[in-house]
This record gives sequence, structure tokens and C-alpha cells, in this order.
Amino acid sequence: MTQTDQTAVTVLVIDDERDIRDGCERFLSRLGCSVTKAPDGVAGLEAMEKNPADIVLLDLKMPGMDGLEVLKNLRQLHPQALVIVITGYATVETAIEAMKLGAYDFLPKPFQPDHLRLTVGRAMERLRLTRETERLERERQQTLADLAGEQSRLRTVIRALPMGVLVTQPDGRVVLHNPTFCQMAGLEPNSPSGQDITHYLSEPKVHELARRASRQRQGNGEDPPAVEFVTGQGRNLLAQATPVLGDGGDSLGAVLVFIDVTPYRMLDQLRQEFVAKVSHELRSPLSTILLQLTLLVGEEGAAPIQGHRHLLVRARERTQGLISFVRDLLDLSRLENGGGISAEPVEVSLEKVLTSVSEALSDQARNRKIELSLEVPEEPLPVLRADPVGLESVFTNLAANAINYSPDGGKVKLRAWSVGDALKVAVSDEGFGIEPDKIGLIFDKFYRVKNEKTRYVTGTGLGLPIVKSVVEGLGGAVEVASELGKGSTFTVTLPTKPA
Ligand code: ADP
Repeated sequence: MTQTDQTAVTVLVIDDERDIRDGCERFLSRLGCSVTKAPDGVAGLEAMEKNPADIVLLDLKMPGMDGLEVLKNLRQLHPQALVIVITGYATVETAIEAMKLGAYDFLPKPFQPDHLRLTVGRAMERLRLTRETERLERERQQTLADLAGEQSRLRTVIRALPMGVLVTQPDGRVVLHNPTFCQMAGLEPNSPSGQDITHYLSEPKVHELARRASRQRQGNGEDPPAVEFVTGQGRNLLAQATPVLGDGGDSLGAVLVFIDVTPYRMLDQLRQEFVAKVSHELRSPLSTILLQLTLLVGEEGAAPIQGHRHLLVRARERTQGLISFVRDLLDLSRLENGGGISAEPVEVSLEKVLTSVSEALSDQARNRKIELSLEVPEEPLPVLRADPVGLESVFTNLAANAINYSPDGGKVKLRAWSVGDALKVAVSDEGFGIEPDKIGLIFDKFYRVKNEKTRYVTGTGLGLPIVKSVVEGLGGAVEVASELGKGSTFTVTLPTKPA
């Protein structure tokens, strides 16, 4: 037996004859065994207790504890030890009895060294095989543990994926899915696998997708087929399927990956709505201008109509309206992209801004017989660091709205004051007011309240979104208090110290 990477074989010799004990020791040591000796059964069991041997040479005929008794104890306490019984010719029956009790082999007395070598050699070979089997078993267990570790790692990764995963067999049975999928499909977080795909998703397009991928025998190099569908919970999901191929290129099933594309679809919808609204806003004034120009140009060959200055005036107004609409759109897009309306912020005096706004609107107010007033404290207000054009557009929009949504002869007041580290400006009117359920909507792009009073007021629905963007960009806020038929107050708060 080679002893390269294994521990040496240990042998215990239990015999009352000293010569035999010593002889065995000498001989077995030469075979490379590590030998201990005991003169009787009790001593032998004690030696085994202290240092269990691989092989025990046990004399059956000893004074004191009988050899068979020792054997029984050994089998019970050290079942792994190989016991070779040493017995005289006279006790062959006993030897048979010993074999029945579990002895590994027997050695008739008197024996020659060759016999000893043969018998112990057999036991050593058996030991080698046992150890080899144990080693292989340990290796197998380790491989299984590695495999189990690998599987659980894979499962952990699949569980953590932000996209839904569903794996189906060719017959449509789901063998694996992850919590993201359950959440997307509106299922319980830990719904078990094992059912048909229809149990997890009712969308026939996805069933067909899984079937098609399962039928595919080889990847065709193209992008995996995909379908988009809406779940019962109103989510837009994109499902992509890839076949799982075995070593022979045959299909073992399909892996379906689900991505939630709801935010993209919402963006698409917003973009479409935006384009529709802008086109609508552009079409009506452009049609009016076209109509007016057509009237002025007259029929083919006919002289242009004279004396229709008012048509040109109207066309100019509509064109101006269009230009201001496009300007508002550009301002808003600049603000939403994180920029200001004009350049860098500078130190601005709020009184100056408000004075310039009320002067710019005075004609408009006068035409409508509206009393436009400005009230600022006697003490100068703290200066603001802001984009002056942006600030002017805030108060122009608010004051113009106050004028536009007031009946002729109304009152519009601009009032500024300072509180702590903030400046406040209230723009109030005694005009139409806003219905309570519409107040939450007026800061939305293109939103305009449509009622009997407002229908004759032209506008784009972009003024208040611009106000909100500029004010919030300065770290401030806008509040609205309004009562239908009584009037509205828009209060802007601007911090004087940047956050
Ligand atoms: P526009 O004035 O171009 O319609 P805005 O964004 O400035 O767009 O305002 C949105 C809507 O809010 C207006 O259409 C109007 O219905 C309502 N609104 C704004 N200011 C007032 C106000 N002072 N009084 C009554 N309604 C107002």
C-alpha cells in the first residue's frame, strides 16, 4: 500500500504471548505500520480508547477477558477497525464464531511471517480502498456543495434583476420567475413556479412569443422577438424571448425578459400632446392671417381690395400673438432645461422691476378702465440676485392675467413687502376668480380655464408655468387665493439669501 498522502496504518496487537507481540511489531513496522501492543483484552480496549487503531490483531485465547468478548466490545465501540483474530488449530469453530461476530479475517497459530504479511496486507488493501472511497465521497459532496452554491448564486442574481424574468419549458410550463416579474404581473411576491404560463399572464401575445421561441432550434443571429402589451394594472411591458438551446442545438425552452416601458410611453404621449397643442395654437392664428391676406389679395387677375387696413392690423396682431407664443415656448423650454430666460443673475431692485412692469401695462389697463396700482414700502427693499428679465416676466404675466381676467373698470394691485429673509409680492384683482377645482391645474402647460367669462380672453396657457419655473428656480414659491366672482391674489415669495 502506498502511503504517500495518507496517514500510516496503525496496528494494535492484543496477545498474551510476548514473543508473538514483539514478533508482530518487528515485522509490521518493517511494512511501514505504526504498532502498539497490549498483553490482554482489557489493556487492548484501553489502548483502543486512547488511540484507535486501523487494524487489530486479536488473540482469541487469553487469560482474563476472553478474545470473543473483546471482539464484541471492539465491534461495538470501534466498528471501523478491522479485527484479525489469531487462533490455534484447536479453535477453528471459535474462529468461525469470531467471523460471524464481525471479525475481518483470521490467522491460524502458529503462523509464519509470510502469513502475517498476506493477511495484514489484505486488511491494508481493504483499508486503502475504504479510504479512497471516503475521499471520493468527500469530493462528490464538495462538488455537490459547489453546484448548490453556484445555483443559489445564480438564483440570487436572477432575484435581484430589475427586469422581470420568466423561464418556460417547451410545453409552456413556467420553471423559474423572479420577484420583479411577479410585481410587474400583479402577482403575489412569492408565487410558486410550476404552472402553465397562462396562469401567470393572460396576454395571448406573450404565450405565442414563448411558444415561438421554444420552437426555435438555433439562434438566427437576429434580435430576439419582442411584444409590447398593457397589464391589468395599466403598465406597459415589453417582453423579449430567447430560446434556451441544449448541447445538440435543440430547444429546452425559452427565457422571457420583461421591461417596464410605462415611463417612455407616458413621455411619448406627453410629446404627442405637446405637438398637438402647439400645432393647434399655431393653426388658428395662421388660418386667420391666411384668410385676411387672401381677402386683401383678391381673386386671380382682380385688383387687390383697397381700404381694408383693419384686416392688415388684425393680421399684424395675430402675428404678434404668434411671436409671443413662440417666445413663451422658448422661455419655458430654456427654464425647464435648467437655464434662465436671459443671462447670469445680477443684483436686482424689486421696486424697479415692479415699476417697469406697471408702466408697461398701464396702457393696457387704461384701455380697460382698470385701476392699476403699485404699493411698495418707504424703506428700500433688500436687493435680490436674480435674472431681471425672468423676474420681469413673472410679474408681467401675473399683472397681465389680473387685468385680462377682470371686467372693465376693475382694480389690480401690486404690493411688495419683506418678511425675514424673504420678499413677498402680491398681485391681486377683483376679477372673475377661479373655481376651486381648477386652481390645482392652472400651472400646467397649456391649461386654460374655459368658461363664459374667460372665453374672450386670448392666451396660450404658458404664462403661469413660466412664472412657476422662474420663481422656483430662485428658490421661491407662488401661492394662489381665489374666490369665484370676487377676485384672485397670486403671492410670490422670493428668498433674499440664496439657500
Ligand atoms: P393664459 O393666461 O395665457 O391663458 P396662464 O398660464 O397665464 O395662461 O393662466 C392659465 C389660466 O389660469 C388662465 O387661462 C386663466 O383661466 C387662469 N388665470 C390666471 N390668472 C388668473 C386671474 N388673475 N384670475 C382668474 N383666472 C386666472
